[in-house]
Amino acid sequence: LSFDQMGLKDDLLRGIYNYGFEKPSAIQQRAVMPIINGRDVIAQAQSGTGKTSMIALTVCQVVDTASREVQALILSPTRELASQTEKVIRTIGDFMNIQAHACIGGKSVGEDIRKLENGVHVVSGTPGRVCDMIKRRTLRTRAIKLLILDESDEMLSRGFKDQIYDVYRHLPPELQVLPSLSHLAFSLNFALFFAGTILLHCFS
Ligand code: AMP
Repeated sequence: LSFDQMGLKDDLLRGIYNYGFEKPSAIQQRAVMPIINGRDVIAQAQSGTGKTSMIALTVCQVVDTASREVQALILSPTRELASQTEKVIRTIGDFMNIQAHACIGGKSVGEDIRKLENGVHVVSGTPGRVCDMIKRRTLRTRAIKLLILDESDEMLSRGFKDQIYDVYRHLPPELQVLPSLSHLAFSLNFALFFAGTILLHCFS
């Protein structure tokens, strides 16, 4: 399967090729189509397999830039991963004018408020700060259709479980959820709470 065969938006394809990608990695080949077709997918992959890029390109495909509301929310265990994901989304989504914001602890709350009130399509953050922004009603959740729980096993081991459920409770009921795991056995129950049917194994 090539990127051309995935039915991606033209401006997104331009962003992908411009970023230097020529063909999808294994996880991208297997996960992108089911996700774009609206399935909940639990992806198990080690780092470096193209998972972050897979997240970025599915987010870009799903977001409607005609609306200024937050439509995709990505939760990550660390500030670094949340920022990295936001950066890849901005780069791949460059030709589509995607507005993404990293909502992470340790950065100014004022800046978060300013960015969110200006309107962004995608928020990539750590559970604590995202939860805080939702409770302040600065991060409006009503248009969110995609929730990505990146490295959810790592988020659990860092004690973010209650905050993740807290965020989840504020999201619309018609929600597509993509939990990713770095190790399969651990926290599979947690992932299955959010996602039903497809379980992807991707070692490479
Ligand atoms: P990721 O796991 O998404 O952080 O990807 C790991 C590394 O592989 C990063 O340097 C990506 O830029 C690169 N990468 C991801 N997907 C592809 C692809 N389809 N083609 C070439 N490089 C890729």
